[in-house]
This record gives sequence, structure tokens and C-alpha cells, in this order.
Amino acid sequence: MGPTTQVTGLRLGPISRMFLVQSDAGVVVVDAGMAGQTDRAVAALAAHGVAPQDVRLILITHGHIDHFGGAKALRARTGAPVAVHTLDADALRNGQNMGPLKPTTPLTGLLLSIGARMVAPDPAIAFEPDIVFDAPWRLDDYGIAGEVLHTPGHTPGSVTLLLDNGAAIVGDLATGNWLFPTRAAPPLVAWDLKRNWESLHALLERHPTRLYITHGQPLAPEALHVLLKRYA
Ligand SMILES: [Zn+2]
Ligand SMILES: [Zn+2]
Repeated sequence: MGPTTQVTGLRLGPISRMFLVQSDAGVVVVDAGMAGQTDRAVAALAAHGVAPQDVRLILITHGHIDHFGGAKALRARTGAPVAVHTLDADALRNGQNMGPLKPTTPLTGLLLSIGARMVAPDPAIAFEPDIVFDAPWRLDDYGIAGEVLHTPGHTPGSVTLLLDNGAAIVGDLATGNWLFPTRAAPPLVAWDLKRNWESLHALLERHPTRLYITHGQPLAPEALHVLLKRYA
């Protein structure tokens, strides 16, 4: 048995959430919330006994501003490097959502105004990421027994952190059903929805035990199997 690795979701705002992944050997943060949420992020970490300098890596699941908008500021507070998949790195460099943001259903088209709009590049949140990687990429060097997998579809460079203990942090590979939080729903937007379902299928073949989505509560794998049957 390796060290125990724990995942904690930290709510940063109405739609944003980041994940604290910690073991005895290290602390990694997945996503960084939006611009202006960094005080809240640091306070949430402190509430879990994590000081800024304890963070060894900030892993970004994909290039949407609700996930990386706070990354530049969180890097300044923690000193931790920010890592993003090579195919979404330009979003961070430009301070702009990785497009195109195609609605996945007529209903989600209506919901786009909430936060997934294409907005102008924002120099205040733009920066050169420290680590631009091609997945798969293991995080053992950061004290975390797990692997970053390329799970494209929502964006070209979307990734999932699959821990050896079966927990998977999937970004926006799926979202929660607004009425029934134990059920999964498609992401609101997708660069390539077919690729998204292929990525989800490949992930489920790895038998994750619990899936941590950004926009909703953690899901059992069964909920994702139902989603795939319905849409893919
Ligand atoms: Zn997204
Ligand atoms: Zn999102």
C-alpha cells in the first residue's frame, strides 16, 4: 500500500471549484478558480491545514477561465508551478477561453451566458505556464500517486487526474444534473463532443471509483455509464 491520497473539493464561487489533492508526501492543487478568487482559495487551503508554500503543483484541467483564471495569482501566492496540457496552453498565454464553445444541447445553449462565453483576452490573467506537458504524466515527483490522462473533447487539451486509489478529477468531462445531483449531464459546451464521449469511455475502462467534476457533486461511475448510454 502506498501513502493515502485524499481529494477535497473547495468551492470558490457559484460555479467554480478547485481540488486539494494531498498525501503524506505532497500537496497538489487541481484548478485555480476564477480571477479574484485567490484570497478565497488560500483561505480554503488554510482551513484544511495547507499553507501556501506547501503546494507543490497547480494542475489545470483545461483552458477555461473558470478553471485557470486565478492561476497566475495563485502561483504568486504559493510559488508553485502551473501545469497545463500543451493543446490548451494558449488559453493561459492569452488569458482567454479555449474555443470554440459549441453548446452540447439546445438547453445548454441557453445557459451559456452564465460563464462559458467567449470573452476578450484578459492580460491580467494571462501568463506563460511553467509546465506544458503531453499526457500521460505521472505525479509521483510531486508526492501524488496518480496519472494525468489526456481526455480531450470539452477542449483539445482537457485532462483528468486519475489517482492510483481510483479517484478521478475530471474537470468538465461531465457536469452534474442540476435537478438530480447524483446524476451526470453533458458538459455545457464542447470543442468536439464525440471526442469527449470517447475520452469518458476510455477513462471508465480504467475503473475509476469516484469522479470529481467541477460543476456538481462527486459522481459514482455508474452515473457516467448511464450518461454514455444516453448520449454516446
Ligand atoms: Zn470548461
Ligand atoms: Zn468549467
